[in-house]
Amino acid sequence: MKFSDFNITPEIIGNLKKLGFKKPTDIQFKAIPHILKKEDVLAVAQTGTGKTAAFAIPVISEIHRSKRSRRAEGVRCLVMVPTHELAIQITEVFKEIGRGTRVKTFGIYGGVKQDPQITRLQSGIDIIIATPGRVFDLVNQRYLDIRQIETLILDEADHMLDLGFLKDIQDLLRYIPKKRQTLFFSATIDENIKKLAYSLVSNPIRIQISPKNPVAKNIEHGVIEVKMDDKRFFLERIISENPEKKILVFVRTKVRAERVSSAMERVGIKSLTIHSDKDQDNRNEVMKKFSVGEVKILIATDVSARGIDIPDIDYVINYDLPEQTENYVHRVGRTGRGRNKGQAISFSSPREQELLEKIEEYLGQNIQKLSIEKEEYRETLELTGERTDWQKLMLEAEEGKKRKRKKKK
Ligand code: ADP
Ligand code: MG
Repeated sequence: MKFSDFNITPEIIGNLKKLGFKKPTDIQFKAIPHILKKEDVLAVAQTGTGKTAAFAIPVISEIHRSKRSRRAEGVRCLVMVPTHELAIQITEVFKEIGRGTRVKTFGIYGGVKQDPQITRLQSGIDIIIATPGRVFDLVNQRYLDIRQIETLILDEADHMLDLGFLKDIQDLLRYIPKKRQTLFFSATIDENIKKLAYSLVSNPIRIQISPKNPVAKNIEHGVIEVKMDDKRFFLERIISENPEKKILVFVRTKVRAERVSSAMERVGIKSLTIHSDKDQDNRNEVMKKFSVGEVKILIATDVSARGIDIPDIDYVINYDLPEQTENYVHRVGRTGRGRNKGQAISFSSPREQELLEKIEEYLGQNIQKLSIEKEEYRETLELTGERTDWQKLMLEAEEGKKRKRKKKK
């Protein structure tokens, strides 16, 4: 199967070639023909399997073909995503795939000034990639007209339907024509969300791919038992033993992200942090630095667990286990993307045992235990720079004493 076998415009086929996409992935193979036929799709496919292009390719192709000129004809497609970073990333993918076509894509999200977004909107846009809050604001202020929408896409659909966004989406649906195409994409979906999804469409939805094991097959993942207070020594050890590797570390809270980053700094390891307390400019800068590999360690909360496609992350470390079980799948899914292989290691402390069991229940299988000998565990605590610091302190104390003694003499 080749991309040229789909009934899509040649500009796109050329762009895919430039992107190095040789042939469609499974989900692209299965979803693209249905989307081209304007059918509703509920697609569940593992992380990193190319879901973005699976909806971008047919949507761009159809809009391009039905448009007579590059002139504005109203917004035809709305893609809703849960985070700003994801809006930026998906906009980029749409632009690459749609290069040279008549289709204009624009990303709008909160956390940045609204005025430049309004100016762009007035220049005529076909596809909008957005977080729900900002779309809602712009529609309410009548800067954005979504009454012509033909295709509504929810990426990370289960998360989008999570309580926070559901109301925004339902409010927006009042403006979007009832007769439309609706597409849901995610790596995870549960029964409740499925019910909700069905309630949002008029035609039945096709479920295309539902993997038995939600963790992508390119990812090797294991868990080690580590006491809460010892976690930073283990992180330090992994980082120092893999100085060339790009590592994404997930922690439970914003405060912990900063704390772990400071702990690493104390032992000479440079890291960046990303979480919802940081302003958008800072978040963008951090993502850029980590993407290009300027800094190899990023410490994140779950804001970065969903959908983010950073090139070549070698390891994902769950410094803390995720509280929402499905986020295990999304976090480890930041590695092993496309054809790449990836590794994920989780630190589980005795008080996280229950969480671990819940995650394993969700996965339908146990996570491989990486057993550490007592000796090795002890060594990890001692091998660290932390001990050096402590030794230094001891030395300084010793020297201080000596000096005092000398003075007395
Ligand atoms: P998902 O949304 O399923 O997690 P993405 O759409 O972010 O995955 O794609 C994951 C990676 O795979 C991206 O880096 C993307 O460029 C790459 N990719 C997508 N489709 C193909 C393809 N047909 N051939 C090669 N690489 C692809
Ligand atoms: Mg995705």
